[in-house]
Amino acid sequence: MSTERKRNARLFDVDRSSVSSEGYSLDGKLDSQRHSDILQKRETLPVRKQKNEFLDVLKKNQVIILVGQTGSGKTTQIPQFVLEAVEVETSVKRPKMMVACTQPCPVAAVSASQRVAEEMNVIVGEEVGYSICFEDNISDKTVLKYLTDGMLLREAMAKPLLEMYRVIIIDEAHERTLATSVLFGYLKLVLGMRPDLKLVVMSATVEAKLQDYFDGAPLMKIYCVHHPVDIFYTMKPESDFLGATIRSVVEIHQREEPGDILAFLTRQEEIEEACHRISEEIGKLGNKVGPVEIVYLHSTLPPDMQQKIFEPAPPPLVEDGPPGRKIVVSTITAETSLSIDRIAYVIDPGVVEQKFYDSRVGVKFLMVSPVSRDRADMRASLAGRTVPGKCFRLYTERSYNQDRHAQTDPEILRSDLGSIVLILKKLEVPDLRHFMNLPAEEALTRALKELSDLGALDDKGNLTKLGNMMSKFPLDPQMAKMLVVSPGFNCSNEILSICAMLSGMSPVFSFCFDKVKARFVDTDGDYLTLLNVYNEFKRNKEDLSWCDTNFINYSVLKSAQNVRQHLVQCMSRCGIEMCRTYLYGPEYYDNISKAILAGYFMQVAHLECTGDYLTVKGNQYVHLHPSNFLGGKPEWVVYHEIVSTSMNFIRTAMDVRGEWLVDIAPPRYYLKNFPNSEAKQILELLEKWKEEQRKWEREESKNKRYVPRKRGEEVGSREVHRKQEREESRNKRYVLSSNCAWKREESKNKRYVPRKRGEEVGSREVHRKQEREESRNKRYVLSSNCAWKREEEVGSREVHRKREREDRERQWEERKRKCATRKQ
Ligand code: ADP
Ligand code: MG
Repeated sequence: MSTERKRNARLFDVDRSSVSSEGYSLDGKLDSQRHSDILQKRETLPVRKQKNEFLDVLKKNQVIILVGQTGSGKTTQIPQFVLEAVEVETSVKRPKMMVACTQPCPVAAVSASQRVAEEMNVIVGEEVGYSICFEDNISDKTVLKYLTDGMLLREAMAKPLLEMYRVIIIDEAHERTLATSVLFGYLKLVLGMRPDLKLVVMSATVEAKLQDYFDGAPLMKIYCVHHPVDIFYTMKPESDFLGATIRSVVEIHQREEPGDILAFLTRQEEIEEACHRISEEIGKLGNKVGPVEIVYLHSTLPPDMQQKIFEPAPPPLVEDGPPGRKIVVSTITAETSLSIDRIAYVIDPGVVEQKFYDSRVGVKFLMVSPVSRDRADMRASLAGRTVPGKCFRLYTERSYNQDRHAQTDPEILRSDLGSIVLILKKLEVPDLRHFMNLPAEEALTRALKELSDLGALDDKGNLTKLGNMMSKFPLDPQMAKMLVVSPGFNCSNEILSICAMLSGMSPVFSFCFDKVKARFVDTDGDYLTLLNVYNEFKRNKEDLSWCDTNFINYSVLKSAQNVRQHLVQCMSRCGIEMCRTYLYGPEYYDNISKAILAGYFMQVAHLECTGDYLTVKGNQYVHLHPSNFLGGKPEWVVYHEIVSTSMNFIRTAMDVRGEWLVDIAPPRYYLKNFPNSEAKQILELLEKWKEEQRKWEREESKNKRYVPRKRGEEVGSREVHRKQEREESRNKRYVLSSNCAWKREESKNKRYVPRKRGEEVGSREVHRKQEREESRNKRYVLSSNCAWKREEEVGSREVHRKREREDRERQWEERKRKCATRKQ
């Protein structure tokens, strides 16, 4: 089989090939041979030798801290030990109490539950299950539940004392994720109220601080044999990490002894591109080298794509031919969350992508930064877990010693705390004083301020009705607000799909971007493009071959569909109405954009006369991400995230209108909060116009009287007439005249003139349709004095949009020229 064919099969057919029935009997359990192999393997794990010691310490203490290297068997074995030792049965009426084991990412929770279910020879979802953000696989029988740390926090919102658990295990505590840090603080409170609850904290590194925090809880170490690892550095600093990683993988495959390779990269697109290029490069080498199995790993990888990383390397193509090799390309997920066996070579470019929140200016970034020394050491040690290995660091030894921090900061110190504060408000945690790592005061104040701007908190800092609803969605506060208010814009159906698509990996393989762009693009915004992809997927009946021919990742779309179903359930629990906006209607784009803005009004950027975008909040210069699908450079964009590499890029953006910003954000939001800028001046003007418009409307409504028609003239009831008036007023547009005042247009004089019976040409519906057609063709163009004017449009919506963009581009050029002449 050619390598090209192999590549296609691996990157696109993941879900089909990963589900193998080999080794399973008809009831879904393992056959006896496979089961005994697994049991044999687990007996070799270091932690098994200390089982009795562990159970002894557990019996005597409420809290234990357990430290053991990655691969020692903590995640898979300790929960099973606990299950054997503690009593989970309760009196008849109450369900069994469970053992919970938290993981920092969904991939780890699913993988651990699958492995433990195999070891216990049960089906996942029965005695052993998992619960991750948008997926539950548990039943009444479940006694051991793997879940993400964030999910445990959410469960606490429903049952604050976590009565359903007998023992809680917080795993991978060294990762110190935001949710784990908050759980430490919260569980400390709960342990005081529930003496029957036990807590096991598991970590790969020793931390004295953790022991102090839990009042001197006993610390138990797991002893592991470790093989030597040779570390190699580059002579010169490397700027192209991706290229260097690909070269290193190919060279190792050509020259080094058998053994699998683990390469770290930063983000999904990079990983996909690397897999694609490695496959091509190795394909060119032909039969001189052994076959490869290239697997990628990412924290939000759909469950059916994960299991591949545990499969053995492929056998040689011919007997006595060069041996095969497994190549895993991963984000930090493979660092500690998942232990992969038989890795002999680690490639460490020395960088990691992390969320970073600048609490000074209140802007979130996704930033690629150097890994700390302890993380670099952890990566290197993975090469020596099962065999002696080598670690290739793509940076200099000097950089290792001098440019890196000794440890990574806990996430709580560098995160936006909005979602956590919302959960803590719901949990009624009075303050954070007793937390292990106190977040910066500034970050906390900002989080409270943002939540109150979103309408989630009232003036006294208590949860509002909206805030209460928002806290029920496992989404960040902005996204939750966008969803909760979407029925107000008549588009909850569309916003649901957009949320689902934004919650997982990108559905488009990065190396197919251009082809996909041509098929699904909506130049108004990336959000709409994502929506188009989802809608087309559904329209084509979730067909796998449709995905393949359109370069779309089937598994990602299936998991988006699953996320969507979960969100629909959340919506119905909260009693939120489901409604859809008509795809070909004039309001389609406006409604969706406005709903997005209602959640993300803090994340807007304005195109300055220099041609760069400036974020309104934080005044950061940003650029549109090269992967954007916009058809030009709109004046205002709302964006989903800022990715910081050599420059700051805004990723997933949408064209919005200035006047919507002042309509949708809280009154005077942009004027109160941010430093002076070109964007602020324009918003100031728009606020003024809006104020005038409101004044005018008040006046108008004062003078307006309902004049009842005479009996003879009357065609419809008073209610019908009112409804017509409402319809009309919805279609009314205001234009800004050159003296910056809003004037009402022809619609002022417009009245619905009912036709006499004899003259009647069509039904009321036909008439409405005509009206809709007309209003669809009406568009506003930005005149040279920055004022919107109404224009009678003859062409279609797309043609018009294109013209708008061209006009704007012309204006930018003009503005740039003016700026340049001013400077001269
Ligand atoms: P630790 O938590 O100490 O890092 P684990 O309990 O995760 O260790 O792993 C113990 C062993 O089980 C490792 O050899 C690992 O490769 C194996 N293992 C874990 N999960 C799976 C899985 N889903 N499929 C196959 N093997 C697995
Ligand atoms: Mg583990």
